[in-house]
Amino acid sequence: MKKISILGSTGSIGLQALDVVRMHREKFKIAGLAALENINRLEEQIEEFNPEVVAVFKKEKAEVLAGRIGRKVKIVSGMEGLLEVATLTTADIIVVSVVGSIGLLPTLEAIRCKKTIALANKETLVVAGELIMGEAEKYGAEIIPIDSEHSAVFQCLQGQDVENISRIILTASGGPFKDWTRDKIEKAEARDALKHPTWDMGRKITIDSSTLMNKGLEVIEAKWLFNVGLGKIDVVVHPQSVVHSMVEYRDNSIISQMGIPDMRVPIQYALSYPKRIKSSVKKINFNELGQLTFTLPDTEKFPCLPLAYEALKTGRTMPCVLNGANEILVEYYLQDKIGFYDIPKFIEKAMIKHEPFIYKTVDEVLEVDKWVKNWVKNEIK
Ligand code: MG
Repeated sequence: MKKISILGSTGSIGLQALDVVRMHREKFKIAGLAALENINRLEEQIEEFNPEVVAVFKKEKAEVLAGRIGRKVKIVSGMEGLLEVATLTTADIIVVSVVGSIGLLPTLEAIRCKKTIALANKETLVVAGELIMGEAEKYGAEIIPIDSEHSAVFQCLQGQDVENISRIILTASGGPFKDWTRDKIEKAEARDALKHPTWDMGRKITIDSSTLMNKGLEVIEAKWLFNVGLGKIDVVVHPQSVVHSMVEYRDNSIISQMGIPDMRVPIQYALSYPKRIKSSVKKINFNELGQLTFTLPDTEKFPCLPLAYEALKTGRTMPCVLNGANEILVEYYLQDKIGFYDIPKFIEKAMIKHEPFIYKTVDEVLEVDKWVKNWVKNEIK
């Protein structure tokens, strides 16, 4: 029996992780849950999964929840509460599915407690990949990706020698604006972007998918997860989202992982690894599948992708600036405060403004994150 804590249990990935646990009660048990503020949903989850500790990030909400459920479960709050759930002695695996740089500290502390990290929060590796991977190695903590592309790469790497990788090829759906002209995209509103063609995801990641920033962040994430050189990560647009990603080896053979797009597959692989377990996800039906297509991304229409490559190339604190600026800009775009191309425009401005440096601690990275978010807010005003 593996015991699991979920950070971000009321979000899209968290709910699907609980789906997996629900389907495999004989294999998994919930140790702790953490969420930002959705206490109604948390209350249902407590009822169903009976965790030991539950963290609600917003303190007022934590108090309301504690009042409702009495002493049945320990309720904690704030970053301290999040850290308590991340480091619970009884938990074997921590699913990190909170959105944004808030995932950084809890991931780091869980690593230091030698937990297995099932990582869905890409920002953690984007802003502090070097530090996180260094600590994971030092403490012998395993990091298993949940992001579908990285799970695919992880699966394609099983039994293979990392030295034989010639290239990692991440697939991108291309987002809802793939076939739009630049002029039309310029006027696109958040609600257009929220109609994602193949994946059902949270709001922030859906916007990131429409700008291709999601893929940019994934390139950076892949660099840290798989420790490959800069020129060895490519992106191809594959709108059907059936090939979840590929690895090309030195003999030019490509191994890919395929399946119907459903996040429960990578989530359950991260939880059951190194074993494979049954799933209720639909099988591929080759009669219905039709054509699979692959094209290169249009970097003129989607400048966020080259910006991410540039941030990775610069390294140091630059990916943190890219990510922090993007977080704020996506929030503004969702509120219809800025246009689509303001996102790359202000990210680039922030990157020009920032002087990247080599960081040693999480605090330094969080300082940069805070700086860039404030800087962007002031620029937009
Ligand atoms: Mg992904």
